[in-house]
Amino acid sequence: MKIVTILGARPQFIKASVVSSAFQRAGINEIIIHTGQHFDSLMSDIFFQDLNLPQPQYHLNIHSLNHSAMTGRMMEKIEELLDDKPDWMCVYGDTNSTLAGALVAAKLHIPIAHIEAGLRSFNRQMPEEVNRVVTDHLAQLLFAPTNLAVQCLENEGISQGVHLVGDVMMDAILQYQAKAKQTSDILARHQLSRNEFYLATVHRPSNTDDRVRLSYILDSFTKLDHPVVFPIHPRTQAQIDKMELSHYLAADSIVAIPPVSYLDMLALESACRCIITDSGGIQKEAYIFGRPCFTLRNETEWKETVDIGWNQLVQPENLSESIANFTRPSECPKLYGNGDAATQITQILLNL
Ligand code: UDP
Repeated sequence: MKIVTILGARPQFIKASVVSSAFQRAGINEIIIHTGQHFDSLMSDIFFQDLNLPQPQYHLNIHSLNHSAMTGRMMEKIEELLDDKPDWMCVYGDTNSTLAGALVAAKLHIPIAHIEAGLRSFNRQMPEEVNRVVTDHLAQLLFAPTNLAVQCLENEGISQGVHLVGDVMMDAILQYQAKAKQTSDILARHQLSRNEFYLATVHRPSNTDDRVRLSYILDSFTKLDHPVVFPIHPRTQAQIDKMELSHYLAADSIVAIPPVSYLDMLALESACRCIITDSGGIQKEAYIFGRPCFTLRNETEWKETVDIGWNQLVQPENLSESIANFTRPSECPKLYGNGDAATQITQILLNL
């Protein structure tokens, strides 16, 4: 069986590292195309070095463009590489690379397998939401991480080809947490003690593209009762520089650092008091590590973490108060499967 996989962004490298290993073990011939959406060493190369992810056969080097130009150029280049049609096109999540891969495959009549299907924030202002909806409606195989995702697909009339397999990010944590514990020195490097710091990430345009909003967020970090470790996404750093907000990062309580490796991230997530984020993947990781999560958004596609009480949607103005008033829920049931999503995905593809 031949599968072409489209990757482009940080969370996709992490997800693919477990799925590509399962494909390799099953003898599947996988061709990886890296669109280049995330391109620098800390957003891309480091994941290929640290994780069990084969080097891409093709690198398209397409980045730093507006949505239409980026998606269009990716489509053009991906189509040029598909002369010899694969059995499946595999795409992950909700980025422009996901959408470009899905659209090309649909036009060339190549069946699409969408990993992390059925997620919905119901906010079509989010570019990711548009990418998810379109990809799900084009896919023949939809690997849903949760019951809620299956339900969302059903509500849109999609039930054929849907498989509830759990979340490949759960697989990744189980696969890499021991290695993170053994090899990451990030806690020592920044003199961080367990439960004595907050971990924060911010990169969604809704938080980074408005100066007032971004300054409220940075200001809210300076008001917390413990230091905030803040690995800064390149687009957030660029906005902080452009909007002249870097004085917030100079506060003693802010540990502003460049993006970290996945292994360092796992070490930080497992040791922090709680997580403040607008990331999709990190909301789940917080839950899996039993860390309270405060999500700087109005809605989330990982709603089950909110329903169960481990995740709160907050505004920066209320962050400190929300953290102070948080009560740990007594239950933390398995929401994201048993860590065998990649194996299930591989078996389903092979048995079709
Ligand atoms: N991550 C990482 N280093 C960082 C920040 C995030 O390895 O400095 C990992 C994180 O643990 C998670 C994934 O990247 O697995 C989430 O990616 P991101 O927040 O960029 O995207 P989203 O999940 O919001 O699409």
